[in-house]
Amino acid sequence: MPGLVVDIVDLPRATGSVKNLRIRTPAPADLGTEVIGVPEGSDLALDVTLTSMDDGVLAHADADLHVHGECVRCLRVLDEDRTVRIDELYLFPEAIEAQRAEGDEEADGLLAVGDTTLDLEPALRDALVPTLPFQPLCRPDCPGLCPDCGQRLEELPADHHHEVLDPRWSVLAGLLETCQQDDDPEEGRP
Ligand SMILES: [Zn+2]
Ligand SMILES: [Zn+2]
Repeated sequence: MPGLVVDIVDLPRATGSVKNLRIRTPAPADLGTEVIGVPEGSDLALDVTLTSMDDGVLAHADADLHVHGECVRCLRVLDEDRTVRIDELYLFPEAIEAQRAEGDEEADGLLAVGDTTLDLEPALRDALVPTLPFQPLCRPDCPGLCPDCGQRLEELPADHHHEVLDPRWSVLAGLLETCQQDDDPEEGRP
């Protein structure tokens, strides 16, 4: 049984029937955003309780996982262990069909119970991703990097700065360069 897909053959269809299981599996790819998420292949552990409902299966799980990212300002590595709670109702296909027939536009986004299995991956993704910071920071007031030398500002003395060439000189330097190009003996030769 691959990763987060669980067998429900032995879960009686009678409402209120319960199946408990524990899953340990390597994390799937793309569990997170571009800047922060669960590294593919890292340890994922879930305590799962499946309960039969009238129109589907209620999946409840606590997922222990590892979140890895980078501070967007200073690029410091961020590592964190987290427990994510999943509470998701997976509907029987006929229940989804019924909603679709009623014109429910959200029917396409509903999770469906498979014939003999139930895939926890989309539920885990839905539970985790909205909790991840859009712009991860090592701390809210991270000062970031010096724009000139790229070092972490908080590790530099408060008066850290770079000698900046007087802008008037850089204009002159630019002119000088232009003149030199005009004098290029290779140019304008017949
Ligand atoms: Zn930072
Ligand atoms: Zn600097």
